[in-house]
Amino acid sequence: MRANCWYGKRDVRVEDVAEPRILNRRDAIVRITTTAICGSDLHLYNGFVPTMEKGDILGHEFMGEVVEIGPDVRNLKQGDRVVVAFPISCGKCFFCQKELFSLCENSNPNAWMAQKLFGQSPAGLYGYTHMLGGFAGGQAEYARVPFADVGTIKIPNGLGDEQVLFLSDIFPTGYMAAENCNIQPGDTVAVWGCGPVGQFAIRSALLLGAERVFAIDRFLERLGMAKEGGAETINYEDADVYDILMENTGGLGPDSCIDAVGLEAHVPGVIGAYDRVKQAMMLESDRPHVFRQAVLACRKGGTVSVPGVYSGFDDKIPLGSLMNKGLTVKSGQTHVQHYMQPLLERIQNGEIDPSFVITHRMRLEDAAEGYEIFLNKTADCVKVVLKPNETRAMTPKTNRLSKGEVFSDMQGDHSAFSKGGEAMAEEHEARQPYKCAVCGAKFDSQDQLQNHLKSCTQKKSQ
Ligand code: NAD
Ligand code: ZN
Ligand code: ZN
Repeated sequence: MRANCWYGKRDVRVEDVAEPRILNRRDAIVRITTTAICGSDLHLYNGFVPTMEKGDILGHEFMGEVVEIGPDVRNLKQGDRVVVAFPISCGKCFFCQKELFSLCENSNPNAWMAQKLFGQSPAGLYGYTHMLGGFAGGQAEYARVPFADVGTIKIPNGLGDEQVLFLSDIFPTGYMAAENCNIQPGDTVAVWGCGPVGQFAIRSALLLGAERVFAIDRFLERLGMAKEGGAETINYEDADVYDILMENTGGLGPDSCIDAVGLEAHVPGVIGAYDRVKQAMMLESDRPHVFRQAVLACRKGGTVSVPGVYSGFDDKIPLGSLMNKGLTVKSGQTHVQHYMQPLLERIQNGEIDPSFVITHRMRLEDAAEGYEIFLNKTADCVKVVLKPNETRAMTPKTNRLSKGEVFSDMQGDHSAFSKGGEAMAEEHEARQPYKCAVCGAKFDSQDQLQNHLKSCTQKKSQ
């Protein structure tokens, strides 16, 4: 079969590999119809997470059709359409019983490696290092799904792949990040990072009752998408994030702050150079700039929620602020299985259509190009999905396909997808993604906003 394999820093290749087979009684084999590239995959792509090996199959967001099951999988049958949760979880251990599925005790055969770094091992994950199990991932035509009775959710007919695929990871991840904030009526939530995880954190915070959500990033397409989702946006290149958050919360700071960026934060200025040099010399595992900002901005007694992935040991964490302000920090790989059913229901009820985040549809064969585009955020990329069964050449900008064009393995309503190029362009214009963080005025271009900012700041200081 074909699969996307890791070969080193910025080097992934789609190759012929052996097909998976049933190894254990609770395994299933899934023929993958749609899969995706996650921000977590970028950390592997950039070589920041140890214990990848050449030839490892990547990918942990996938869905498809059950083609084979082990004798102890009693709740699935051949032909079922399933989404697979990215943590591999036994369902029976102390942690799984508490529905802390990403902390499963029984799914990481290399737990000893993770223990050395983390003290104890979390669950095994698909396509995510040997330290976390060395499991083959889902950017492939087929995958073996261990503990398939616990790690899958059946998808009813009538829902398209793209509406449900993200139940595998980023929708539950954004949702758990927001749920960890214990949002109360009237709360303000600040979300750093408007990547796919940030987008779902924003929408989930609003679903859970936040009154205001501030979304922070520098990529305008992503800020525009956040605004469409109901957030007020801050471009951190144009404004001081701390100042804007204080001004908008009566000097208190947001009730909760979500770090949806993680270990590869873009850090301008001197502190950025410090982190980059230390990370490059392996004196620091991560660039925890956003975590630092979130702690400093959060209101006293508030919560800092961290879905962003960190890998090791980091410097200059403002522990003094965290302690003296009485903050709560919540984090973790997502307990996906806990969220799949209730979030599927939210999709079925029409509360959210997760496919909004997709900007690029590509063949599995073009995975290397997908990684490059997603990494560099070129072509307004927010999320790439890959189609293992698609043989037609697809251009990277497939969201600009002509009206009505859909792919064979998809079902359901694709209204967002079937828009023509002109409609998409008009929609983009209509977003006016450049917003003044001081007065809220909206602009079409960065230049217009810059001009306005001069007078707007002047006005304030007069
Ligand atoms: P992404 O790379 O697409 O998005 C990250 C965003 O952060 C980008 O838009 C980037 O511009 C922005 N950013 C960078 N520096 C910033 C800064 N200083 N201030 C504000 N924004 C900044 O990735 P993603 O798919 O959205 O994933 C985000 C994080 O979530 C990653 O660390 C990923 O590994 C993690 N993740 C965690 C889980 C989990 O289970 N906890 C699951 C999925 C993803
Ligand atoms: Zn992920
Ligand atoms: Zn378990």
